[in-house]
Amino acid sequence: MPKRGTVIAIDGPVASGKTVVGKKLAEQLGYTFVDTGAIYRAVTLAVLRSDVSLDAEDAIVGVAEGSSIDITSPTIQDGRLYTVLLDGQDATWAVRSPEVEAHVSQVSRIPGVRRALLGKQRALAARGRIVMVGRDVGTVVLPDADLKIFLVASPQVRARRRYEELRARGQNASQEGILQNLLERDRIDSQRIVAPLKPAEDAILVDTDHLSIDEVVAAILRELDGE
Ligand code: C5P
Repeated sequence: MPKRGTVIAIDGPVASGKTVVGKKLAEQLGYTFVDTGAIYRAVTLAVLRSDVSLDAEDAIVGVAEGSSIDITSPTIQDGRLYTVLLDGQDATWAVRSPEVEAHVSQVSRIPGVRRALLGKQRALAARGRIVMVGRDVGTVVLPDADLKIFLVASPQVRARRRYEELRARGQNASQEGILQNLLERDRIDSQRIVAPLKPAEDAILVDTDHLSIDEVVAAILRELDGE
């Protein structure tokens, strides 16, 4: 059995399954689940709702520093995995809009934005018993995590998963458009100077192309038990 206070970091590219796997794993362990992507998305939404231009880095950092962002367990049972509060307002679905998706990597690459959000993410993890998912959780946010997982999957499989997820929510999107957005976000996320998307040296790589969600969760539980 995992020791008390265990911290699990799961990173990976767009639509590699981090969120759904992380949420299930946390449920099975009775741990808290934190999706750090939602925090970057909330800052991006705050920028888009303000009159700050997407080129004005200093002003964007000001928005990141001045916004109150909270991630809680679901407050409404409408298919959400968690609730996102931006300045006290429910922004759970708004942070998943195509507009946020189109700009989030551009906002997340700004070093001051990452600096502003680092302490917040660490504070959320401070009590342990947590599954935290993102891009730099194992490398930067929680480098001392007890278990680090890096999920990989081919771009085609990831685009298909995201397409099916959107359709299940009644949204229309072309699989080709999703693939292009996913490749572009991965490119910006991997090439940024601060905290790029990459596996930590001590991360365990799990290729999810041919695995179901439950199989990925089971593989992580085996790692946790030290098998
Ligand atoms: O995981 P999700 O697709 O919601 O993440 C949205 C974006 O937030 C990523 O494409 C990335 O630009 C940014 N992000 C990040 N660091 C994290 C989590 C997300 O830069 N730890």
